[in-house]
Amino acid sequence: MNSCLAIDIGGTKMAAALICDGVISYLTQIKTPSSTRPEAMDEALTELISGLDKDADFIAVASTGIIHNGILGALNPVNLGGLNNYPLKSKVQEISQRPVYVINDAQAAGWAEYKSLPQDISNMAFITISTGVGAGIVINNKLLTGSRGIAGHAGHVLADPNGSRCGCGRRGCVESIASGTAIGNAGKVLWGEHCDGKYVYKKFLEQDPQAQKIIQRSAQTIANLVADLSITLDVEQVVLGGSIGLAPGYIELVRHCLDEFPPAHQSRLSTAACGADAGLIGAAQWALSLQK
Ligand SMILES: [Zn+2]
Repeated sequence: MNSCLAIDIGGTKMAAALICDGVISYLTQIKTPSSTRPEAMDEALTELISGLDKDADFIAVASTGIIHNGILGALNPVNLGGLNNYPLKSKVQEISQRPVYVINDAQAAGWAEYKSLPQDISNMAFITISTGVGAGIVINNKLLTGSRGIAGHAGHVLADPNGSRCGCGRRGCVESIASGTAIGNAGKVLWGEHCDGKYVYKKFLEQDPQAQKIIQRSAQTIANLVADLSITLDVEQVVLGGSIGLAPGYIELVRHCLDEFPPAHQSRLSTAACGADAGLIGAAQWALSLQK
């Protein structure tokens, strides 16, 4: 019972992989439908799963959004084209006729990163800084999913009470300051509409002072989040991932800000090891752990 078809549903791409004993043997991806019609997601899932599931004992799905009782909900209505209250688990079950496990993508990636830590650690947090800011938290060797599936949405804790409105509806969330999208938006004000997070980061690496200010603000915000998680949950290690989290020089900036805090607020920092497949691998590993 260990051959898994893992699926990762992101805002722009949906990936599927056959995973056996933690090794990916086949990987494919399609575009996430932009339509809010649930039928569009039904069709995309059928396209992704059909043919691949014949070799799988079970299916593990990691998805952006909130997963509660197998239903996909949106914290940010803009994500997944506004698809809300989508019966993800039962739909995949209907398509594949296999046991199905469904989990939030950052939680899944956090589990994969936790499993790949070289040291024997019981408490850790994974923070991904990419289009948005997400997290997966492991306490006493257990992945926190929460009573409503929300656990780990650390990108939506407060960073600036006077900050701009976040996609979740609150003002001044970490995500609205530190994410790649927020970095791009700050750059648009200076360099025009074509600007995105990647462009600002390139200028940062070229030592542009305004880009340095934007990236520094992002890193300071993430350092505050690391400190909040450390003092609240007493995590031994915080792993940073995502395109911004893994960008050259970023973790050093966060570490530098973190060094300014009292020791109880500090935590060991490292970069993610599992790369873009962390959601797929983590979902498969997590589903397997539930079967034991
Ligand atoms: Zn928010």
